[in-house]
Amino acid sequence: MSSLHQKEEYKKKRTGLIYDPLMLDYHCLWDPIYPENPDRIKKPYERCQFYGLVEQCVNIPGRLSTDEEVLKCHTERVNKLMREMPNMSYDELMHVSTQYDSMYFHQNCDKAARFALGSSIQLLENLMDDKIDNGFAIIRPPGHHAMHDEPNGYCYFNNAAVVARTAIEKYNLNRILIIDWDVHHGQGVQYQFYDDPRVLYFSLHRYDYGNFWPNLRQSDFDYIGEKDGKGFNINIPLNKTGFGNSEYFASFFNILLPIAYEYNPELIIISCGYDSAIGCFEGRMNVTPAGYAHLLNALSCFTNGKLCVLLEGGYCIKSLSEGVALSVRALLGYPCPRVEDFKRPEPEFVVTLNNLISVLRPYWKCLQSLNDIDDSIILEKYLEDWNLKYRKDIKFYTDQTKPEQFELTGFYPLYSEEENMQWDKKIDELIESTDLFVPEKRTCFQLEDEIQYTCSFFTRIENSEISPIFSVGEQLVKRNFTNGLVLVKNFDNRLNRVEIPRILTEKYERVKKVMNVVLSDDVSDLIRSENILNIVIGSKHNKKQQSDSSNLFLIFEDLDDATLVTAFLRIILPIAYQFNPDLVLTYTSDFEALQNNKVTSLGMSHIFKYLSALAEGNLVLVFQDKVSILYQKVIEMSIPVLNGHGLSIPYPLIPDQNQRNRIKLWIDHLKSIWNCFQFNEKLPK
Ligand SMILES: [Zn+2]
Repeated sequence: MSSLHQKEEYKKKRTGLIYDPLMLDYHCLWDPIYPENPDRIKKPYERCQFYGLVEQCVNIPGRLSTDEEVLKCHTERVNKLMREMPNMSYDELMHVSTQYDSMYFHQNCDKAARFALGSSIQLLENLMDDKIDNGFAIIRPPGHHAMHDEPNGYCYFNNAAVVARTAIEKYNLNRILIIDWDVHHGQGVQYQFYDDPRVLYFSLHRYDYGNFWPNLRQSDFDYIGEKDGKGFNINIPLNKTGFGNSEYFASFFNILLPIAYEYNPELIIISCGYDSAIGCFEGRMNVTPAGYAHLLNALSCFTNGKLCVLLEGGYCIKSLSEGVALSVRALLGYPCPRVEDFKRPEPEFVVTLNNLISVLRPYWKCLQSLNDIDDSIILEKYLEDWNLKYRKDIKFYTDQTKPEQFELTGFYPLYSEEENMQWDKKIDELIESTDLFVPEKRTCFQLEDEIQYTCSFFTRIENSEISPIFSVGEQLVKRNFTNGLVLVKNFDNRLNRVEIPRILTEKYERVKKVMNVVLSDDVSDLIRSENILNIVIGSKHNKKQQSDSSNLFLIFEDLDDATLVTAFLRIILPIAYQFNPDLVLTYTSDFEALQNNKVTSLGMSHIFKYLSALAEGNLVLVFQDKVSILYQKVIEMSIPVLNGHGLSIPYPLIPDQNQRNRIKLWIDHLKSIWNCFQFNEKLPK
């Protein structure tokens, strides 16, 4: 594993970073092993320094928040209580701590909490004033559990909620997406915006049918918001431990991202907790540090990648630190590290996903497909069964069950010494095996001699005897460049789409598997070949094309941007992650949908963006030079993606009912070939 050096071509993104030792100045006075402690921000920041990331970021000074800002989401009572902290004695601090669930107070916690909140707002202001493209606030205390009139779960003030409120009031934003992948449910955020469609709250959290803290009935999948906000609160409760990248990515591909394309957010706030990461004793989930980079890459498809990332939980210092560093690295625009072992999502997760789709379907078109029957009837019956089966013995936390005094220590579920050592070893192995090598140069460019284009954006390289596609592929395999762009006249025999990848796999040890993504109606040269997965998206039917484990033909009449992107999310990406290629080649040529402008640079750039997360960014975009694909279009589609920049959608992208049905039919058809489609079972009856 090599540390990163600043690369000229990778400096293009302005990533804001906020960190200040002021937030180290408080800790639990009566428990030396309390999980929430100063190392939680100190070590992640040091890890970013180790990788050389800090000097590549725009380092933004934090600041204290004002009373006015605190009062946007909290009562004067809480504000005043916090102001009293510096003058409290040890006994008084202890007494106040017994009044709140999973809390400790300290003379300096008020200052740190105000600083964490002020810094979060500072990050938002820098984003909105276009001083940065995205940003990460390495802050403590966390915020997402803090309620209107009640500190809760290590949180005093609700950083994410106040940032969202500020975005609404100061910047007149109407569509803010908050994504909360901290392993605990951010009930404080949910309560703040439960009836407000201006904030779409999406939380993935451990639930254990209600047995996991904060033990709220309100954290389950059927709490979807109320009044105008109905459908704008999305909970994915995880009822089993051990879920990892496969389940988290499936939540994104099937629920969050399709809904984000329909919602079209103006700002994305991430309540970024790493207690969902591998080795954390609180969450006991298995998301890998690299997994977070992929989630951030996907979210960069919206709002020009304007991501406001706020640290929440994370109690395994090693996986927390690595997770933060790889997240900051992804924000800077570096290619995502590889994620291995992408597998079929666990059955308990599948049930949750289907439950959620059934309750959200009435509010989001993207979730409505074939076999829609009366949702209200099914749901009522289904919830009844669910109550009988899972909820009857559970003691949910309510105002009535609230204890006189809360425990001060020992309520957190630590690992044994032996378990700690095992996890530590696993994380070390994971870090060791994660390849963070980055080539000196980013994008290489090649075209056939007879094409009359000049490209000032990228480095043109020498042509090989075989073909321009081969020479660019070879540059990537040799790790001289990360990605490439090629323009050719024709895909004739010399440029066979199977032959070139085959030669690369034979010649280079590093390339064992190649994925070809073909956007074309002419696929005559595609033949079955070992270690090569062909994915063809076309608009004309051909009876000879039968999908199998090495060839996937997706034919859509009247293909448009929305259908193309949705087909990618729901069909192609699960397969691509499961296949885990070493190199991705895309070929865009005779493609009716592109010629008649139903598919545009918009849809194309989004699918390229998702593909750029695979194979450590080793992506070659090949275009056939024809009148139908103007050079201007090629540049629009390619440059932001190849440079690692964020994208946006100018209007919601929702496939129409026919296309949604077609996607569903394709999934049903492919289920027998690819087991990653397990989650597309019949909805509950
Ligand atoms: Zn948490």
